[in-house]
Amino acid sequence: MPVYRNWSGSFQFKYQKLHQPTSESEIVAVVRQATNSRQKVKVVGSGHSCSQIAKADDAILISLKNYNRILEADPSSGLVKAQSGIILRDLCKQLKHHGLALQNMGTIDEQTLAGAIATGTHGTGITQPAIDQQIHAYTLVTGTGEVIEVDQNHELYEAGKVALGALGILSTITLKCVANFKLEVNTFSTSLQQAVKKLPEHLQSPYFRLWWFPHTNKVQVWQANETTKPASIESKWAYWYKNILLGNYVTELGLWFTSFLPTSIRSFNRWVFNQLFSQPQSNVRYAYDAFVIPIRTKQLVMEYAIPIGQAESAIKKMEAFIESGSQVVHFPIEIRFAPSNEAWMSMSYERTSCYIGIITYHPYGKKIPHEPYFRQIHHILADFDARPHWAKIHYFSAEALEQKYAKWNDFKRLRSQLDPEGMFENEYLKKLFSTEKKT
Ligand SMILES: Cc1cc2nc3c(=O)[nH]c(=O)nc-3n(C[C@H](O)[C@H](O)[C@H](O)COP(=O)(O)OP(=O)(O)OC[C@H]3O[C@@H](n4cnc5c(N)ncnc54)[C@H](O)[C@@H]3O)c2cc1C
Repeated sequence: MPVYRNWSGSFQFKYQKLHQPTSESEIVAVVRQATNSRQKVKVVGSGHSCSQIAKADDAILISLKNYNRILEADPSSGLVKAQSGIILRDLCKQLKHHGLALQNMGTIDEQTLAGAIATGTHGTGITQPAIDQQIHAYTLVTGTGEVIEVDQNHELYEAGKVALGALGILSTITLKCVANFKLEVNTFSTSLQQAVKKLPEHLQSPYFRLWWFPHTNKVQVWQANETTKPASIESKWAYWYKNILLGNYVTELGLWFTSFLPTSIRSFNRWVFNQLFSQPQSNVRYAYDAFVIPIRTKQLVMEYAIPIGQAESAIKKMEAFIESGSQVVHFPIEIRFAPSNEAWMSMSYERTSCYIGIITYHPYGKKIPHEPYFRQIHHILADFDARPHWAKIHYFSAEALEQKYAKWNDFKRLRSQLDPEGMFENEYLKKLFSTEKKT
């Protein structure tokens, strides 16, 4: 049987067959065929989730990499209808041709549109929508092969977007885009204490995040405001030198070396900070170019969303852990922000959130243990009513998660209606939503 492996190598599995449909009717046909032969089906996107959410042993796989076209684009309304397998990079480039852009997005552009939406992918800024909040309408292929058109008045609207692949296959997605815009990005370094003290002030910036370099007490502040100033001119060479050569190749080498001598991680974090993040910088970029960073080194990530009012206390508790020196960990600890979200299973459901993300790298594929670090941070953030990012590692039980989501049981009810045979179920979903209670 053929084997599927995700981007980070955090899982692999054997599957029955891979389908690459090019139309909605072909997607429906695959689902119906699978129902008839009582086989599970799983859509795989770009494989960028390091949680087991896309792992589907023995299933029939669907890749929508050929279901990737923009079907309609109306620059005056900003409405853009796309096939859900489109990669964000291709989407953003085509939007630009129509004078449009996504209002906000995450740090990379390699995900499929549907994969990003299904896991609640977010960017940063307390007024800036996650990708699912930029949806106007969508179609969903259910487990019985029915195609449902969902708009803002439909009862499924807030349930079927961030749906973890559990309710059906997102087929076409109509986005509400904005006129293409530029951002003036300002970055500067400060101490962790100053950054935390000035959080309320920093949060006035529409787009804002912190990259904390553990064991150095240094933080890079990244802020961006919309501008009409002309875009900065940056040579391709300068971009390549900083972001690819230093930011990826040299850094990956350093990550590999320090994996043999963990005590050197402190100095390495300081070196990277000094080389790449310490100098104040200001530039003007089109929004898409400002949001996206080329990230090549494989990594495992854990990211929890906590209520924004808890951010300061949570960061201070994490600082105490880092300062204790009981573990030496790599940069960065990423601190981002997102507005309250109405999607039932969004990590930001009904609360403005601070997202705290930690990383363990796998330089050249070398697996470095992540458990001690991740579990420690889990214990800290669990006390702050944290909700885990669906695409990333976490340690919450289904029972604990159920308490965190007001619509959990409504979601389960919809799941049994839309996927009565459990066509889309995998181990990840079974653990979350299986109705059998643990004894
Ligand atoms: C380097 C890196 C940077 C990242 N940066 C960010 C970030 O800034 N912000 C953030 O929030 N996340 C971030 N992520 C997480 C990433 O956005 C998610 O893992 C996203 O789900 C990846 O999309 P994918 O296409 O790879 O989906 P996959 O990982 O392949 O699949 C994820 C889930 O989506 C489901 N799915 C895929 N297509 C469909 C469909 N058509 N219909 C229904 N379900 C579907 C799959 O079945 C699976 O359950 C990052 C990940 C990496 C590796």
